[in-house]
Amino acid sequence: MRTLPSYLCGAWAEGKGDLETLVNPATEEPLAQAGAGGLDRKAALEHARTKGGPGLRALTFAERGALLQAMGDALQAHRNELLDLSVTSGGNTRGDAKFDVDGAIFTLAAYADLGKGLGEVKVLADGEGIPLARNPRFHGQHILVPRTGVAVHVNAFNFPAWGLAEKAAVALLAGMPVVTKPATSSALVAHRILEILTEAQALPEGALSLLMGAAGDLLEHVGPFDVVAFTGSSDTGASIRSLPQVIKNSVRVNVEADSLNAAVLGPDVAAGEETWDYFVKDVLRDMTQKAGQKCTAIRRVLVPSDRADRLRDDLVDRLSAITVGNPALESVRMGPVATASQLEDVRSGVAQLARDGRLVFGSGEVQAVGAPPGKGFFTTPVLIEVEAGAPAPSVHSREVFGPVATLVPYSGRAEEAAELVSRGRGGLVSSVYSEDAAFTADVVLGIAPFHGRVFLGSAKIAEASPGPGTVLPMLVHGGPGRAGGGEELGGLRGLAFYMQRVALEGSRPVIEKIVR
Ligand code: NAP
Repeated sequence: MRTLPSYLCGAWAEGKGDLETLVNPATEEPLAQAGAGGLDRKAALEHARTKGGPGLRALTFAERGALLQAMGDALQAHRNELLDLSVTSGGNTRGDAKFDVDGAIFTLAAYADLGKGLGEVKVLADGEGIPLARNPRFHGQHILVPRTGVAVHVNAFNFPAWGLAEKAAVALLAGMPVVTKPATSSALVAHRILEILTEAQALPEGALSLLMGAAGDLLEHVGPFDVVAFTGSSDTGASIRSLPQVIKNSVRVNVEADSLNAAVLGPDVAAGEETWDYFVKDVLRDMTQKAGQKCTAIRRVLVPSDRADRLRDDLVDRLSAITVGNPALESVRMGPVATASQLEDVRSGVAQLARDGRLVFGSGEVQAVGAPPGKGFFTTPVLIEVEAGAPAPSVHSREVFGPVATLVPYSGRAEEAAELVSRGRGGLVSSVYSEDAAFTADVVLGIAPFHGRVFLGSAKIAEASPGPGTVLPMLVHGGPGRAGGGEELGGLRGLAFYMQRVALEGSRPVIEKIVR
């Protein structure tokens, strides 16, 4: 079986010792092995700092933008191959695979455009100049310059392509080299991406490296000018934040973690209306797309009590039509979850949530279409319902990272909806679906302090919008509290994490020469 090498210090190198076997989650067929035993992670970080950093910083934003475009073009040229790999290695339907792979290409293109727009400069002005005295020569100006270290990216298993690209696009445009570590279980796609990019010679030496297998001591070698961007569970995020080297060197850490995203249906929306159907469609998409393994998926569905029965029936009706099975088959709408441990986690999570209410759809047990008997990490979609006013502590605290959502009836009052949503203690994105602008505004302002993004669902945007579960590069991604407290993307805002903000204070003409 093939062992997937890492790409470190400008060369491919296989790990030794214990290797993890990567399998097809639908068939459990072994696909490859990966491990990072014996690889010199310290040298890899130093190579990125000393070779990759200077090369990138010598370029203007427009030139770095052109690199991102070349990366996107290279991936586009291999899109079908990446989609196939995503289906076999990640349990993704072709639609799920597109979500990841096309999301990667789209994000690279979006940041390529931003680079082009910034033009032939290497320093960014941060806001306007500030007069500091009556004498107009004494002047202040904030600027952003690239950090001189390495950006270490640690990604979750659910988006091996997008996760790599969305972080790398921002870091590379800012002028920082990247060492990226995908989650091992689904790393085949990330590995192939690095192969494609190195074959295409899309990037200067040291700009992008790949560590396959466990992080090991990778983060023990971070220094004061490095940054760490992590996506994954809260527990791993907390352990990274508390590493002595990270604390001692004041290393910037961005954490993207769990989230109990909620969607609120407004009391003005009646069954059968356009907004109702739009709401049902978005809930259904988030439950089943990537088998619910999206950090932004709707987990809590808030519905006015007087129409909870109808919404439950509508959802159950649609969920009954979902074919679960081997995603290589066109007829399959939902594939397996990514790993055996993920399946175990989903099962124990469902059992916990069900104690807060009752199961109204899906037992978890499924006859998966097109999978060998007894094989694959399959579950049904699962819908749970709690009683109006029930405290349901687990529903508001346990993220079940699978095709699982809970119906939470509420009175129809905006304040109650906002209070219930905020019990998630910080989230990536929550939504309100209503045509009543006053209700929408009350909910939005009630939940905004607890989220990185709020989605305003309305029939008026239904055609144009991909729904709350899609992260767009122009808008910030991240959230406070349990979501990790991080912030990524957001167009140019994302660059600030990888750059040092410096206040210049001095003679205006000299400052204006530096910041043109
Ligand atoms: P995880 O177990 O925390 O793993 C995430 C990444 O961290 C993997 O690459 C993993 O590598 C690595 N890792 C594990 N232990 C580490 C350590 N001690 N030091 C450094 N790296 C370490 O999370 P997961 O199960 O892959 O992801 C699922 C979670 O991610 C869910 O809770 C989901 O909500 C969250 N998520 C959040 C976002 C977001 O944008 N906010 C996006 C996607 C997922 P190995 O695979 O090699 O163990």
